[in-house]
Amino acid sequence: MSTYLELKREAYEANVALPKHGLINLTFGNASAIDRAKAVFAIKPSGVDYATLSPDDMVVVDLEGRTVEGSLRPSSDTPTHRRLFLAFESIGGVVHTHSTRATAFAQAGRPIPIFGTTHADYFNGDVPVTRKMTAAEIAGAYEWETGNVIVERFAGIDPADFPGVLVNRHAPFAWGPTVAKAVETAVAIECVADMALMSLALAPDLGPIEPELLAKHFKRKHGAGAYYGQAR
Ligand SMILES: [Zn+2]
Repeated sequence: MSTYLELKREAYEANVALPKHGLINLTFGNASAIDRAKAVFAIKPSGVDYATLSPDDMVVVDLEGRTVEGSLRPSSDTPTHRRLFLAFESIGGVVHTHSTRATAFAQAGRPIPIFGTTHADYFNGDVPVTRKMTAAEIAGAYEWETGNVIVERFAGIDPADFPGVLVNRHAPFAWGPTVAKAVETAVAIECVADMALMSLALAPDLGPIEPELLAKHFKRKHGAGAYYGQAR
């Protein structure tokens, strides 16, 4: 009997939600959920088709990168997830996709500009983009270094204000207090990327959302003054 049944179930549900939301082609993408008390996270196994995935296939890894439970190899992106869990202590889950439109911005090395309230409900500004990785980083511990360029981009930035990033030439990563919330944010990132491309097609010189409208939408969902949704 696994000690990590609930954690593996949570990670499994998040992983199978990704293709359901149309965020995944082939096997690109992965989700992980952390148990902070036990200092372990559950993540998708490497290269396994989503259709055949089961909760028991999830691999449980500790914060030193050692597999503590599971017979399959963890996702090759596991070191990126581990780096983010170590750096962003408030997050409970990480999602990585290659969703098409967000990835188009990542490949172009451009942040997703904040044009409207849909975006402002999730991010307190543009969806940021990292710098390009160096040849040495790519040749080295590539997936760990991918985490490092994200952490570098977030120097002085609260990951709760910006719950995701585009890795330059690569694709989006999203996170949140739970992995379910990280999935929702990954969906939102793709959605706002799509809307931004259409807005730019209609109005190539469009500027960012007005600061008061950004503040209104972001703050009604986040922080001490939040009032959106139901009280818990
Ligand atoms: Zn990737």
